[in-house]
Amino acid sequence: MASGRYSAFRLLAEGLGGHRGWGRAWRDPAPKPAYDVVIIGGGGHGLASAYYLAKEHGIANVAVLERGAIGLGNTGRNTTIVRSNYLYPQNNRFYEKSLQLWEGLEQDLNFNVMMSQRGVLNLFHSDSQRDQYARRGNSMRLNGIDAELLDREQVRRLVPILDFDNARFPIYGGLLQKRGGTARHDAVAWGFARGADKYGVDIIQNCEVTSIRMTRGWVVGVETTRGYIAAKKIGIAVAGHTSHVASMAGLRLPVESHILQAFVSEGLKPLIDGVVTFGAGHFYMSQSDKGGLVFGGGLDGYNSYARRGNLPTVEHVWTEGVALIPALSRVRVLRQWAGVMDMTFDGSPLICKTPVEGLYLNGGWCYGGFKATPGSGWCFAHTIAKDAPHELNAAMTIERFRQGRTIDEKGAGPFPWLH
Ligand SMILES: Cc1cc2nc3c(=O)[nH]c(=O)nc-3n(C[C@H](O)[C@H](O)[C@H](O)COP(=O)(O)OP(=O)(O)OC[C@H]3O[C@@H](n4cnc5c(N)ncnc54)[C@H](O)[C@@H]3O)c2cc1C
Repeated sequence: MASGRYSAFRLLAEGLGGHRGWGRAWRDPAPKPAYDVVIIGGGGHGLASAYYLAKEHGIANVAVLERGAIGLGNTGRNTTIVRSNYLYPQNNRFYEKSLQLWEGLEQDLNFNVMMSQRGVLNLFHSDSQRDQYARRGNSMRLNGIDAELLDREQVRRLVPILDFDNARFPIYGGLLQKRGGTARHDAVAWGFARGADKYGVDIIQNCEVTSIRMTRGWVVGVETTRGYIAAKKIGIAVAGHTSHVASMAGLRLPVESHILQAFVSEGLKPLIDGVVTFGAGHFYMSQSDKGGLVFGGGLDGYNSYARRGNLPTVEHVWTEGVALIPALSRVRVLRQWAGVMDMTFDGSPLICKTPVEGLYLNGGWCYGGFKATPGSGWCFAHTIAKDAPHELNAAMTIERFRQGRTIDEKGAGPFPWLH
């Protein structure tokens, strides 16, 4: 039975009826022999792409093939930060579209993704860094995006727990995007899955793609652990496995897979309201609704597909946290995990056609793709449906690396040049 529409009234009625009326949030169909579009990867990006293909372009004969359970890749492993505070217009316009989609996502999907616009504050610690951040803020404002440059006292009023008086790297101020914030990561996968399913998209879990079949330069289908599935068009949205899956179609990409860790502390009383990032290193933190501090830093610094991470990085990340908030030295970390990042060399993503006809690529998200989830799905769906990019993703091609048109983002991460 389908899940029906969620509402406060329904919750009340189900509560009174012993919660026996809830159906599955999405079906569990067997794969059909053929589809118009097959999306490889059931993370947020793959599911969002399928949703917008059906909703915006009327293409619902679509399957999302996921090798495990949906949302257990990077979508369910990130630190949930959502923002559009990038420097270059090729990025900040795209991320702003994504942020606007986030702002209406719960109503659109009829699903609580716990979008919380609690603000994202990037701290600066020197005069030259202030100039850099002012430049980024100006670029944002020129593109219609909210940005405020705060001085030290304004930051102190916003986040008094930071070390202002005795800090190794004194805080000079911060760039604030009030509309930025956090969302619940796995709810986004579930919301898009439920939305896509309603349009008739098949979400097929435990179905790993093992090869891509081609005839005379065109894709014709995929071999999977659940048999062969024919497809007129195929979209790749596998994040850290981008190079691996693209190589099934003979593509060699300028993408490296790296490890990024995330951490959650024991539950604490309210400590910080929004998202805060350290400008003298690479550390970012927010506090979850349950009270745990959710934080992370830079990559582990070696190529791997293992989703564990190593201890020196744990120490490194925590050291930066303590430099920012000395009280953290007495906080216990309860959980730690890692995800596999698909790093491009300019820190910007790929949403594009590929040299193989009928094969489309969504990847290169580095460690910033969660915020992009709705915008990425929206643009990827457009690119697949029209066989041409939307103007928002027109620059996000593979060819940019060959043509010298890289989008060398210098906003708040990713920092591929550090690794
Ligand atoms: C620790 C950490 C912190 C992060 N913090 C942030 C943040 O705060 N803000 C932000 O914006 N971004 C952040 N990111 C990045 C963000 O999580 C990712 O960029 C984003 O979730 C990528 O989504 P996706 O749907 O492309 O990938 P995924 O969710 O990884 O989905 C890809 C799916 O493809 C599947 N797959 C792979 N190979 C195959 C195959 N052969 N056949 C079938 N399926 C396959 C995988 O199982 C996986 O489920 C962070 C990432 C990590 C790991």
